[in-house]
Amino acid sequence: MIVYTTDLGTGQRLYLHNTDTTTTLTLVASAAGQQQAQRSGLSTGPWQKPPTVFRTAGSIIVRIEAQGGEFFVQVQGSSMHVLSSSPSLGTAEVLPTQRSSEATVPGGMQPMQPMQPMQMQMGDMQMQMEPMKMQMGDMQMQMPPMQQATPASAAPKPSRRFCPQCGTPVKPTDRFCSSCGHRLVEADSE
Ligand SMILES: [Zn+2]
Repeated sequence: MIVYTTDLGTGQRLYLHNTDTTTTLTLVASAAGQQQAQRSGLSTGPWQKPPTVFRTAGSIIVRIEAQGGEFFVQVQGSSMHVLSSSPSLGTAEVLPTQRSSEATVPGGMQPMQPMQPMQMQMGDMQMQMEPMKMQMGDMQMQMPPMQQATPASAAPKPSRRFCPQCGTPVKPTDRFCSSCGHRLVEADSE
């Protein structure tokens, strides 16, 4: 991208930049420490020559000689408009233009605003909800301590036993089935 700048005096500076298709004019007015930029784009095609900036009696005229033809843009105050016919520039003063790098265009190609940092940090995936924690860096996860899965009342009861012989429920302490007298504890270590 080619950029030319011209100091228009009166605290205004004009930046002209050209891409393959478009000429962009940025008019920057500095007042009281604030910058105001007006921008206007024009389909000109690539420039054939550096633009020329004229100061006439009442306004600034920019002449752009590009592949798409010759264009004149009038800058008056803080407004810019394209002239439909060639203005008379006989007595106009040519203002010096400086070629500069695009980095100096204020309000120009603005870098993308950095995204607002998100609550969740995606860098190495951290996440925290009230009691829950999660971290992907070295894979950590933390959840509230599990409540006792089984309340005390439901604590494992001594399993009911049945007589393998006749199916009658027997007490775990029984050594013999009360119904059929089958011996219940022979294999048990108890
Ligand atoms: Zn039995």
